[in-house]
Amino acid sequence: MKVAVIGGGWAGLAAAVDLTAAGVATTVYEAGRVPGGRARSVSIDGRTLDNGQHILLGAYRDILDVMRRIGADPERLFERRPLQVVDDAGFRLALPGWPAPLNVAWALLTAHGVGWREKVATARWMQGLKARGFRLAAEATVADWLDGAGQTGELRRHLWEPLCLAALNLPAGRASAQVFANVLRDSLGSRRREDTDLLLPRVDLGRLLPGPASHWLAAHGATLRFSTRIEALEATPSMSRSPANASPRRSSPSPRNMRARCGRK
Ligand SMILES: Cc1cc2nc3c(=O)[nH]c(=O)nc-3n(C[C@H](O)[C@H](O)[C@H](O)COP(=O)(O)OP(=O)(O)OC[C@H]3O[C@@H](n4cnc5c(N)ncnc54)[C@H](O)[C@@H]3O)c2cc1C
Repeated sequence: MKVAVIGGGWAGLAAAVDLTAAGVATTVYEAGRVPGGRARSVSIDGRTLDNGQHILLGAYRDILDVMRRIGADPERLFERRPLQVVDDAGFRLALPGWPAPLNVAWALLTAHGVGWREKVATARWMQGLKARGFRLAAEATVADWLDGAGQTGELRRHLWEPLCLAALNLPAGRASAQVFANVLRDSLGSRRREDTDLLLPRVDLGRLLPGPASHWLAAHGATLRFSTRIEALEATPSMSRSPANASPRRSSPSPRNMRARCGRK
């Protein structure tokens, strides 16, 4: 089987590593000149800069596992610290190095710049979320969800909204509440203390995953095509030979009978 991965950001590279490890002939098509997508390093006037600061959470277990498998040791490449959110408006939330969920409960109770009423309401809200397995009754934006839950105070301004923007790359008004609830489940709601940690890169972004993954892929027989934008996906003739009585699901295009049209920059 041959598989084309469109996009060499962290998601595409991780998919390509898994496919290649499973013995699939994989080609990554990346529009940019370098791998990494939004979390990449760029070279400007001979200096290597990151495309914006990135932090990871211990909860990003899958990508940390991919890094280990390609020889990019997260323990060496990140500085691991208990989560701490501090800003110059007097807000401070610091997790102690205790087991979860005690560390989160303590951080919430001792947060600076947050009133007691809000702390208690937030602790109850988090408990309720946990009890429901962080599953929401209906899809909504993070902003609407927080409004509905009465999360309209300091924790929203200094914690939930910045966390939403950092983890989902979307402001609360546009991000999915269920996806954000999943982030809370896997991080602050986790029973593993390590999941709540902050991971601060010790090296530039390109040396965390994009560089090591590209080398690993090339060394394991995958093909990487940079500066190559996929412009269209076209069905190949094998599609039109689908049985007339095939169900829509069976006759829908699959990678096996799609052809990519690409252009080099
Ligand atoms: C400034 C900034 C700071 C951030 N900070 C954090 C943070 O602290 N913590 C955090 O968890 N997240 C952060 N994020 C979000 C994080 O960078 C993204 O969620 C993540 O990198 C997305 O990876 P991805 O592979 O899904 O997508 P992308 O990184 O968007 O990768 C998609 C790739 O596909 C390529 N592509 C698109 N279309 C085509 C095509 N037709 N043909 C070929 N190639 C194509 C693109 O060039 C790109 O390389 C931040 C984002 C930004 C911009």
